[in-house]
Amino acid sequence: MCGIVAYVGQKDAYPILINGLRRLEYRGYDSAGVALLTDQINLYKCRGKVADLEEYIADKNTGGTIGIAHTRWATHGEPNDENAHPHFSRDRDIALIHNGIIENYAVLKKELVSRGYVFQSNTDTEVLVHLIEDIRENENVELDEAVRIALTQVEGTYAIVVISKNHPDSLIAARNGSPLVIGVGEGEYYVASDGAPLVEYTKNVIYLDNEDIAYISLKDDIKIKSINNIERTPYIDQLEMSITQLEKGGFEHFMLKEIYEQPKSIADSMRGRLNVAKEIVSLGGIIEYEEKMLNAPRFTMVACGTSWHACLVGEYIFEELVRIPVEVEYASEFRYRNPIINEKDIVIAISQSGETADTLAAIGLAKENGATVIGICNVVGSSIARATHAGSYTHAGPEIGVASTKAFTAQVTLLLLMALSLAKKKGTISRSRYHEIIIALENIPRQIEEVLSHEKLIKEIADRFSDAKNFLYLGRGYNFPVALEGALKLKEISYIHAEGYPAAEMKHGPIALIDEEMPVVVIATNKGTYDKVVSNIQEVKARKGKIIAIVTKGDETVKSLADYVIEIPETEEMLVPLLATVPLQLLSYHIALNRGCNVDQPRNLAKSVTVE
Ligand code: GLU
Repeated sequence: MCGIVAYVGQKDAYPILINGLRRLEYRGYDSAGVALLTDQINLYKCRGKVADLEEYIADKNTGGTIGIAHTRWATHGEPNDENAHPHFSRDRDIALIHNGIIENYAVLKKELVSRGYVFQSNTDTEVLVHLIEDIRENENVELDEAVRIALTQVEGTYAIVVISKNHPDSLIAARNGSPLVIGVGEGEYYVASDGAPLVEYTKNVIYLDNEDIAYISLKDDIKIKSINNIERTPYIDQLEMSITQLEKGGFEHFMLKEIYEQPKSIADSMRGRLNVAKEIVSLGGIIEYEEKMLNAPRFTMVACGTSWHACLVGEYIFEELVRIPVEVEYASEFRYRNPIINEKDIVIAISQSGETADTLAAIGLAKENGATVIGICNVVGSSIARATHAGSYTHAGPEIGVASTKAFTAQVTLLLLMALSLAKKKGTISRSRYHEIIIALENIPRQIEEVLSHEKLIKEIADRFSDAKNFLYLGRGYNFPVALEGALKLKEISYIHAEGYPAAEMKHGPIALIDEEMPVVVIATNKGTYDKVVSNIQEVKARKGKIIAIVTKGDETVKSLADYVIEIPETEEMLVPLLATVPLQLLSYHIALNRGCNVDQPRNLAKSVTVE
């Protein structure tokens, strides 16, 4: 949430900052702003998207080789011009951008107001800039020390960048709980919320850790200190990202591009990890922890949103293959409910961005209680990747569309690989079964191509139901999480109310909603509880609901009952989520397009949920 970009160097800062904001816009897009340093700080900000900011700035002075910029996802104070970042200090000497929440802002604000500070916005952020100014003046310290002292007084999460008129060659950046990465160029430095704004300029990066403050100066290089004043040596990492991954590549939207990337992203997730000829499944990142995992009394999987749905699929897979009990928890619940966690427990934390605030907090809690935490995330070098004991990257490539698509299928793929590797070591899977599953897994990318070839039919179905007020999604077994994920996708991007339900549970409530207006999407593939699902379809039909069914190729029974049918190829039951999710992604995409919604930047949402 929220995008931060900053630059100090010899080049014109403005084009770099605006370009960076565009690359980060998926993280938050209710308002945007920029501050550029010349002999004074020129600060421009407004409600709306980055394009609105550009239009607003078109006739303004954009000179300067140092600057900060921000796209906001409002937490405190509505999205309007005043609440947009950057925020100025009283004397306009300091400008600051912030991602996160200052939880004790009310107390700090009261104190500052009593000392005569006048607030221009309703944000929690603005207290920080006044606090820094106040400390600098009253304690008579330099700006860098004032920032450090201010941060010791703050509770909550932050990534900030500060510039000051009196320090024309420096940036001060700090983080706690929200991501921040520094790009190191030739005589120039960049700061950003993630690698996307940096990759076209440099691949040399320094990831800041919690409570790090970086003093970046063209004269003195980079110095990193903790807020407790302990210096550490900056470590330079390499950014694993390419420019082409960040562009739409001919597709109308990132979401569509990412849906179509799934054959490749799943193949990338398996690369070097699945060798069918040698019958090897091996995840290098967790190998040293596998014995510990096999001795665990249970696994707890924690995540939020779509990743939580991947955990549900994971629960079914792990219990079937590894025969160790699995609990799936919303990270936001787990972290606050005093859960029972023991030293032998394994916690598996899943997050596309690797920055999800609640998931990070759940990891912290699990570690405090002695559990071993395994991470599955997509963004290399992210906070979760660094906070966990071990883990594996999904390697799905950057996901820009706010509604997650390829990250979900990659997470399920990873969970499958993990379970297969553990099951083989534990002896809970026969050789022939293992063989069948890995052959089926290897076929998945090709089979997704086949599913994607049905887009025209899916669009026709979307055209028919774009005006629906509600949707119901039903599935059982492995297809229950698919139903949840299908409903979530529709809600996120088309704003149609949708519910996912285990098909048999429909009788205990949602069946009351069904009438001739109600589209019901049923995932009715041919294994597991197929016959039962067919009965559930009959129940919907008896109440005149409109049935859109996802079936296995060649199915005749459901075809004779359903109003619309989308076929997916035959596969192992536990792999069906990898195929069945894809038409549901396309269905929500086309419905959202028909309704004129902004598919890549749905209202109120943002990618990478770095606030709790
Ligand atoms: N809490 C701050 C605000 O509401 C920062 C939000 C963000 O991370 O974009 O302005």
